[in-house]
Amino acid sequence: MYNLSLVLEDSARSAPDHPALVLGELSLSYAQVDAAANQVANLLVSLGVAPGDRVALTCPNLPQFPIVYFGILKAGAVVVPLNVLNKAREVTYFLDDAEAKVFFCFEGSEDLPIGRYGHDGARAAAAPPHLVLMTADPSAPAPLEGVPTLSASLAEMPDSFATVQAQETDTAVVLYTSGTTGRPKGAELSHSNQLMNALTCNRLFRSAPGTDTHLVALPLFHTFGATVDMNAGFSMGATLVLLPRFEAQQALELLVRHRVTRFAGVPTMWWGLLHALENGADARGLSEHLRLGVSGGAPLPVEILEAVRERLGVSIMEGYGLSETSPVASFSLAETPRPGSIGVPVWGVEMRLIDPVDPDWAEVTDPGAVGELTVRGHNVMSGYLNRPEETAEVMREGWFRTGDLARKDEEGFYYVVDRSKDMIVRGGYNVYPRELEEVLISHPEVSLAAVVGVSDERVGEEVRAYVILEDGAELTAEELRAWGAEQMAAYKYPREVVIVDELPMTSTGKILKRELR
Ligand code: AMP
Repeated sequence: MYNLSLVLEDSARSAPDHPALVLGELSLSYAQVDAAANQVANLLVSLGVAPGDRVALTCPNLPQFPIVYFGILKAGAVVVPLNVLNKAREVTYFLDDAEAKVFFCFEGSEDLPIGRYGHDGARAAAAPPHLVLMTADPSAPAPLEGVPTLSASLAEMPDSFATVQAQETDTAVVLYTSGTTGRPKGAELSHSNQLMNALTCNRLFRSAPGTDTHLVALPLFHTFGATVDMNAGFSMGATLVLLPRFEAQQALELLVRHRVTRFAGVPTMWWGLLHALENGADARGLSEHLRLGVSGGAPLPVEILEAVRERLGVSIMEGYGLSETSPVASFSLAETPRPGSIGVPVWGVEMRLIDPVDPDWAEVTDPGAVGELTVRGHNVMSGYLNRPEETAEVMREGWFRTGDLARKDEEGFYYVVDRSKDMIVRGGYNVYPRELEEVLISHPEVSLAAVVGVSDERVGEEVRAYVILEDGAELTAEELRAWGAEQMAAYKYPREVVIVDELPMTSTGKILKRELR
């Protein structure tokens, strides 16, 4: 019996005064964060929340996020983190679907104008949960009449609490994800799923207690930030410098000012840092303290990996995973780098390629052949909340199918080819956007590229590239198209090239292909 909140409690015991969270001038020690989380647990008990009840939380990267997150866990309840960009209608769906008993909701403010659905979203739910509002400035007065703020709710609460011990298979977190198809579903992750994954990260990253400072730009409501930065970081007594909204220039300043040792980001964040450097941002001295870069969540173009090593002086370890796998399933290893590879499965996790259209999930074994990636191990969710049919579609004998296409080389390293739903079928040929994006980005005047399929009467789907050029580049769409035709086979080079100033992204920083299509 244990509880995922152990990652915080252990550090609060061993290094109570060490800074756990930093935001601007504010610094909170491990003891302070743990005490505040105890108050949240007491609040939940006073509201009648019982072990196993679900409690929703939406908040950008502010100290309130981890405090509420671990308070919910301590009470034995299940955390349901929600994306801060959700609109009221979406929030209502999640609160309903999860049957949330309490909803901790960030109300936003002038300088942080996100998540402003608050009250309406909750009120529209079928069984409205108890609402607690969080404000960017915890001492601010209640922005909505009749709805208590977090700080007011905690004022009377004792700061000690006997953590509810859970069975290791009990659900700790429900993460809403679209999965490969359909409406968002809640992936149920257990205390042991999450704890094992955090400890796995620490082993991979060779973390030592009390030595790391992370810049936390990945949103903590997403599995990548929650595990790689928060859970793994807390368990090692790291200091988490919070960045509520990624902005490359500011991220670079924080990296330097706080002598950050570890930065994890999605590829567009790494790209943003490089871009800021090109525009004159100062990152002197960074390589003296930044010992590790981590990328995941989307394919990292080799060009970016190499540019980061060259210009920021840091090597990036690329990991692969999904919400359903806690998230980490595989990682490249510093000792055996294979640019473009997601590495090998992490300890206790197996990966296998299957024929994506075979009803029996036949294994694909030929070296280099493309198959759908399946994962089995301590990181795999127990299933989608209240959705046995959708769970059965993706899980069989412990194996979880990811919807990602990959190949494995003879040494056992995996390469994500693309997501099966992003694959383009042009005139009967399979075209993998990721491969084309790598080629386009290698053009000296191209900064970033996203390739999608658009429906076409003649060939079924036509290949279209959206491209951001390097600053000052004069390349035309037609020139790039002609260059692409020289570099890539006739069946796949992008027939349509569109030059854009920016690309639509999710709040995590992944390029939104759906929107481009
Ligand atoms: P999410 O559940 O939001 O974490 O999204 C998971 C999806 O991100 C996976 O199914 C992959 O399509 C993608 N992904 C994650 N890591 C990588 C990676 N290193 N390379 C390529 N795709 C990735």
